[in-house]
Amino acid sequence: MSVVVVGAGPVGLTAALTLARRGHEVTVLEAGRTLAAESRASTFHPPSLEMLESLGVLNPLLDKGIIASTFQYRERGGGEIATLDLGVLTEDTRYPFRLQCEQSKLTPILLDALGGNVRFDQPVHGVYRGDDGVILHTSHGPVRAEWVIGADGAHSAVRNGIGARFEGTTYPERFLVASVEEDLTAVLPGIAPINYVFDPHEWLVLLRTPEHWRVLLPTPGETSDELELSRLPQRLTAVADLGRPWRLRHASLYRVHQRVTDQFRVGRVLLMGDAAHVNNPLGGMGMNSGIHDAVQLANTLADVLEGAPESALDLTAARRRTVAIEHVQRTSHDNWQRLHGPEDGFRRQVRELAADPVAARAYLRRACLLDSLEARS
Ligand SMILES: Cc1cc2nc3c(=O)[nH]c(=O)nc-3n(C[C@H](O)[C@H](O)[C@H](O)COP(=O)(O)OP(=O)(O)OC[C@H]3O[C@@H](n4cnc5c(N)ncnc54)[C@H](O)[C@@H]3O)c2cc1C
Repeated sequence: MSVVVVGAGPVGLTAALTLARRGHEVTVLEAGRTLAAESRASTFHPPSLEMLESLGVLNPLLDKGIIASTFQYRERGGGEIATLDLGVLTEDTRYPFRLQCEQSKLTPILLDALGGNVRFDQPVHGVYRGDDGVILHTSHGPVRAEWVIGADGAHSAVRNGIGARFEGTTYPERFLVASVEEDLTAVLPGIAPINYVFDPHEWLVLLRTPEHWRVLLPTPGETSDELELSRLPQRLTAVADLGRPWRLRHASLYRVHQRVTDQFRVGRVLLMGDAAHVNNPLGGMGMNSGIHDAVQLANTLADVLEGAPESALDLTAARRRTVAIEHVQRTSHDNWQRLHGPEDGFRRQVRELAADPVAARAYLRRACLLDSLEARS
């Protein structure tokens, strides 16, 4: 088998489709019996939309999502600080907006475009690297590949199997994400589809998705899930008092880490997406940067399969690691720090950005990862 991708998440399926579009044989092994349906990433940045367009899968995604042309910084209880308009990026991208749409709507589109060669219920348990290929141990027996792409998420068996490290830190608080069946534009007039709300005690993020609004709240690291979920109705009422409990559709708590693996390429194994790097979700960079890994590394692998030197893969792998550290981790961590209570300088800066299209353009190019695609290793 030529290339085996482990993991049918957004990153693994994007990598597989990139290779398939270049005419290479590719098989995907997925542990689950179906594609994951859980509520996770919900923002697509402009460069990801361009990449999905070049793979021929953008239109069905646009049909399912909501175009968010602006996002807002707000003061808790004090209203808007500034609204930034992604329209200033018209010279930089064909898609000067964020598309609000869950990742679980992208994966079936990618699967459809691949048209087969995805084997469900095939967890990979181990990896053996030889000189001219790799053997994957699965519950259905060994699978041999010339090249392996590990896109099997944060607990990656491929990463563990090749002995790669995954160092970094864990945030002290957990994140609580609640999907609600309330129209927040009616109760908080003037809000944008994406809102970062500053507060030293309880910051929050309000995000619109096609079917509901999401509220992201910081939550103590050590309390029980039961306690935190029982406190949620009060916390939502404190965001906006509707005179009745908010209609809650779903809520979950999770721990957030900033980690990156030491090498994105080890011999004939490539790591990408959450298997290679994880970060906090503020700014919506995890899935997006994973899609960028997938397109860039899979295209370089296709070049190598077509005769380019393998050193090209080392360069792309090193560049993607630099992006994970210097763009994704740095920006998402800055976003986390500011939400706790931005310095007055940052409030002034975002107000000035909102009034100055040239400065806003520079800021938004970084925030939506356009700059990261020009990064050098
Ligand atoms: C609550 C939440 C909110 C988020 N919000 C955002 C956001 O707004 N924007 C953003 O960009 N990112 C966000 N993220 C991060 C984003 O969800 C991840 O970065 C993204 O899912 C990474 O995609 P992936 O394909 O690398 O990994 P995954 O989506 O985790 O997919 C990995 C796949 O591999 C399979 N697998 C696992 N182990 C094996 C194995 N041993 N063998 C075979 N298959 C295996 C899994 O079943 C899964 O299908 C969020 C994450 C969470 C948890």
